[in-house]
Amino acid sequence: MVVGDVTTGTDVLVIGAGPAGYVAAIRAGQLDLDVTLVEKEAYGGTCLNHGCIPSKALITATDVAHDARNAEQMGIHADPAIDLAGMVSWKDDVVDQLTGGVEKLCKANGVNLMEGTATFADENTVRISHDGEGQGSETLEFEHAIVATGSRPIEIPNFSYGDEPILNSRQALSLDSVPDSLVVVGAGYIGMELASVFAKLGTDVTVVEMLDEILPGYDNDLKRPVKQHAKDLGIEFEFGYTAAEWHEREDGDGVRVIAEPAAAVAADGGAAAEETEEADSLDLDAEKVLVAVGRQPVSDTLDLAEAGVETNDKGFIETDSRARTNVDHIFAVGDVAGEPMLAHKGSMEGEVAAEVIAGEPSAIDYQAMPAVVFTAPEIATVGMSETDAEDTGFDTVIGKFPFRASGRALTTGESDGFVKIVAEEDEGYVLGASIVGPEASELVGELSLAIELGATLEDVASTIHAHPTLSESVMEAAENALGHAIHTLNR
Ligand SMILES: Cc1cc2nc3c(=O)[nH]c(=O)nc-3n(C[C@H](O)[C@H](O)[C@H](O)COP(=O)(O)OP(=O)(O)OC[C@H]3O[C@@H](n4cnc5c(N)ncnc54)[C@H](O)[C@@H]3O)c2cc1C
Repeated sequence: MVVGDVTTGTDVLVIGAGPAGYVAAIRAGQLDLDVTLVEKEAYGGTCLNHGCIPSKALITATDVAHDARNAEQMGIHADPAIDLAGMVSWKDDVVDQLTGGVEKLCKANGVNLMEGTATFADENTVRISHDGEGQGSETLEFEHAIVATGSRPIEIPNFSYGDEPILNSRQALSLDSVPDSLVVVGAGYIGMELASVFAKLGTDVTVVEMLDEILPGYDNDLKRPVKQHAKDLGIEFEFGYTAAEWHEREDGDGVRVIAEPAAAVAADGGAAAEETEEADSLDLDAEKVLVAVGRQPVSDTLDLAEAGVETNDKGFIETDSRARTNVDHIFAVGDVAGEPMLAHKGSMEGEVAAEVIAGEPSAIDYQAMPAVVFTAPEIATVGMSETDAEDTGFDTVIGKFPFRASGRALTTGESDGFVKIVAEEDEGYVLGASIVGPEASELVGELSLAIELGATLEDVASTIHAHPTLSESVMEAAENALGHAIHTLNR
């Protein structure tokens, strides 16, 4: 169909159908607003198509193989064969179910769906261009707009994602064969999650990280079991190095990555390990290179200036607590509106933006927002760390429970890690929590709820938890903070 220069109108225009945009559109539809959602590529955005969902599907699948292979202590001896095509096809089925579901939900909530790329023409008009010969463009006028265009992987000098051996996370999640060897540049959460996936598939993985630790921003006691597990999987680390360049190997067998000693910046802001400052460059041979050094907002392709919307020096659109940009009737949500770039953060912002447009008194509150790293073991945090709480002026009390004392953790064969709760000393209000260990991603939900409800240590400790479950560890950590844990020694 050739689309001419038609002009149509909508009350609420949402640009981008990722977890921030489609949630905003559905919420706007529920609130009886006339809403149009424009997407240039695929419903569900990065999260459903190239991020959270495909990566978690592959983590689960490779865990099944890895766990089966390592279950001798449970009396199981297995050597599962991996059919990568089958695994990827299962992952694609999961993605298709979810993206199809998003489309159906949008339609069922009265959202008008448009395919195309939106750019601002002025502060009440966008142009929607349609790909393909003769597809043309159309003009759409709006009363309110919600920008939810997400983010893209950052490229580093000399490593172009257009070059065949160089991969970003999206390309790494769709490989049709398992590389024999892989250099992963960046030990943030995406680099660490995918390094584990490939190591479990049998790839020799080397992680190059410019800082002196994995997972910057997370406390050392949380990272320790993750790093140990990664080493047990055979993953090698080169800390204090940056990937500088690469070239094809002369024997045609893959590539050689040259890594140079990084400028002396440590993960904690101090000096990097001294020995790396003077170190020689490294030559690392690999079949593929995965670059996972972070993501940048997609704000530069929208002609935002035509609408008067400003970005900061990192390209993020700054917003207030109601998701409003500097232009009153234009909102920004999700990755494009700033860190942390997490799907649930974007969805919450999307709901708030829709509700504010509908005249409701909604505002964004990040206090009980969890963050999860799906490594083995998983890391999950919510609210304040001990240091945050002390810096904010709270007198704190800490409760901790190690999974090795949990009957359920032992029966799953995964007993590394702990639950740690940070509470305010006087009344015992729960301020934050961190968990490293089995199902941390699920357990953190209980502590998010505790913070959201203003629960105290006493509330958590006196809630009866089913036995034997991992969630008992949350109760025990609260009891430990109160000085009367049963299954661990009290501090
Ligand atoms: C490998 C990987 C794993 C991840 N794992 C997790 C995880 O476990 N948990 C978690 O919370 N987060 C995870 N994330 C991050 C998560 O994917 C993002 O935070 C989330 O997708 C952001 O949602 P969004 O709606 O802001 O943007 P996106 O999901 O990026 O969606 C933006 C959409 O806007 C569209 N778009 C852009 N420009 C235009 C335009 N001009 N016109 C029309 N459409 C446009 C894009 O095509 C895209 O569909 C992961 C990311 C990656 C890469």
